Amino acid sequence: MKYISTRGRIDPVGFQEAVMTGLARDGGLLIPQSIPRVTDRLDQWRRLTYVELAVEIMALFADLERAELDPLVRRSYVSFASPEVTPVVRVGPVHILELFHGPTLAFKDVALQLLGNLFEHVLRRTGGELNILAATSGDTGSAAIHGVRGRDHMQIFVLHPAGRVSPLQERQMTTVLDANVHNLALTGSFDDCQAIVKMLFNDLEFRDRYALGSVNSINWARILAQMVYYFYATFRVQDATGAARVRFAVPTGNFGDIFAGYLAARMGLPIGRLVLATNENDILSRFFATGEYRKGPVRLTLSPSMDIQVASNFERYLYYRGGESARQVNTWMDQFSAQGSLTVPLEGGAGVDGLIVGGRGTTEETLAVIRRYQEKEGYLLDPHTAVGVQVGEAHLHPDEPMICLATAHPAKFSEAIVRALGRDIAHHPILDALRNLPTRKENLPADVDAVRAVLVRTLDHRVKPA
Ligand SMILES: *Cc1c(COP(=O)(O)O)cnc(C)c1O
Repeated sequence: MKYISTRGRIDPVGFQEAVMTGLARDGGLLIPQSIPRVTDRLDQWRRLTYVELAVEIMALFADLERAELDPLVRRSYVSFASPEVTPVVRVGPVHILELFHGPTLAFKDVALQLLGNLFEHVLRRTGGELNILAATSGDTGSAAIHGVRGRDHMQIFVLHPAGRVSPLQERQMTTVLDANVHNLALTGSFDDCQAIVKMLFNDLEFRDRYALGSVNSINWARILAQMVYYFYATFRVQDATGAARVRFAVPTGNFGDIFAGYLAARMGLPIGRLVLATNENDILSRFFATGEYRKGPVRLTLSPSMDIQVASNFERYLYYRGGESARQVNTWMDQFSAQGSLTVPLEGGAGVDGLIVGGRGTTEETLAVIRRYQEKEGYLLDPHTAVGVQVGEAHLHPDEPMICLATAHPAKFSEAIVRALGRDIAHHPILDALRNLPTRKENLPADVDAVRAVLVRTLDHRVKPA
């Protein structure tokens, strides 16, 4: 499979390059040149384990033999606490797809465990080094660190705003003492961290000399890994209910997770609706109601991983929504950078999209859903998942079971649980054990030269002289 850009100004690239580069050189996002239809294979795939299914799906998009993919995928998911990797459980009126059984207890592990193995595989083939640079406000940093810790030929530098990530999320990063993991605590905001990462990536000479790489949510391999559980969950719920079609409710921030579901539907998976759920940062739910995509201020909520205004993967959706036209994407993106908004015409009675419907959950609603599910069903939802359940419940259909994606374990967000229930009942042994472990981090000013100096100091003996 080759990959093209949503902006249409690059020659197609192979899978390995797509995984190693992230953003396309014309500023667009990489997408597969075609989307395979798999309707004729669904009944055969239904009988596969999670790992077997992942190998089949990935073989369609990666230029890797099954014999190479199989051990790579298997290794990626041995660290998951459930043998099913992403089990589905029936809870009241919905089915919960538990995506939080990986090492950092958030759904980002599903993609980042695989990505670490893919990087390693490519580096073994091509030689060379990869130095990952990332900014985080919480979940991504720890999942990325756990994806590459202890691997050869790879270093990871994660910038977080000192004192502004939750103490628990900080410990999930700084207790990882592998020599290739570098936590940098910057005196500044998350935006400062992100701006410094951008500056270093935009310094092309520096980026090439130090082989900088990225793990951010636009990386194609992350989308690919996330497609698998839409298939897996559809099969499990169809087995349990006999339904012909299912619906998914997806707590959404950067539009990566739900985009994977969108592609699965385009491949022929029988999805009746994709329910896009946002918190008060509702640019995307407003878009799917009105066709207007307009930036607003970022508000802090109980579901911080969804506190996002501009969704980095949204451009991929626009490509398909605009009839697979790069020219249309360019027009819309130019409009968005000039005016801070873009408008997509509505499709007759079907609204913006016949498949995706949006909705939002407020802080009060999120707390109420957590309370209700704990009291009535004895099931504890994390605040991100609760937003999805809240919005999903508004789109229940008698013939299409609703599968709600559970994107984090509630113990990661125990302050929200205490606020909802008045009791501190969200715990997990992995997180409790972090309390007594030694930590390592380096404190730095929020200054690009200070960060550059750490990279140079750490990497200089590894790179060949220019
Ligand atoms: C990242 C994240 C999300 C949002 O996923 P996107 O792919 O950015 O839409 C939702 N919930 C949790 C817990 C997350 O970490």
